[in-house]
Amino acid sequence: MRRGLYLGRFQPYHLGHHQVLIEIAKEVDEIIIGIGSAQKSHEIENPFTAGERVLMVSSALEEIGIKHYVIPIEDIKRNSLWVAHVKSMVPPFEIAYTNNPLVIELLSEAGIEVKQSPLFQRNNYSGTEIRRRMLAGERWEYFVPEKVVDIIRAVDGEKRLAKISQSDQV
Ligand code: NAD
Repeated sequence: MRRGLYLGRFQPYHLGHHQVLIEIAKEVDEIIIGIGSAQKSHEIENPFTAGERVLMVSSALEEIGIKHYVIPIEDIKRNSLWVAHVKSMVPPFEIAYTNNPLVIELLSEAGIEVKQSPLFQRNNYSGTEIRRRMLAGERWEYFVPEKVVDIIRAVDGEKRLAKISQSDQV
């Protein structure tokens, strides 16, 4: 039994993440997806709640048909303790997948094998670009799995983003 850990904020989960997970599924028996910054929502850079992100990831992953766990992980103020914090929240794993330099450093220092994954269409498959498009009223739906479109629509995600980006200054 080989488990792999994949970490991200998934604001929102998009087709780049999805492609990476399709590749990871070929290498491990089970995937643990850690939803980082779980405490954050209703911010321009973090519009979606941990629960909404759990739904996005799990509904998209059901299509891949691999056993998976989706676990929200709150940030903590001490980077030096973060790996222990993550390990306390998730099932045991043998390998982690990430491209985030801080995450790579913290996991490697803790002796965990880390593998970087290729970036797919980084210009479009990017949380920043998708949130920008939502705010600008441009098409973003092509860049996320169909199930994720449904979840974002169900919570009125575009309207939420528009509201929280407003200023109270005139
Ligand atoms: P993210 O959602 O931005 O990215 C997740 C992964 O997807 C990354 O490896 C990224 O490279 C990859 N990715 C993005 N676009 C892609 C594309 N087009 N194709 C292929 N892959 C793509 O999340 P993140 O910033 O890496 O998440 C790390 C989380 O860990 C954050 O929530 C952060 O707060 C948390 N963290 C917390 C602490 C602490 O609490 N002290 C310390 C370190 C990290």
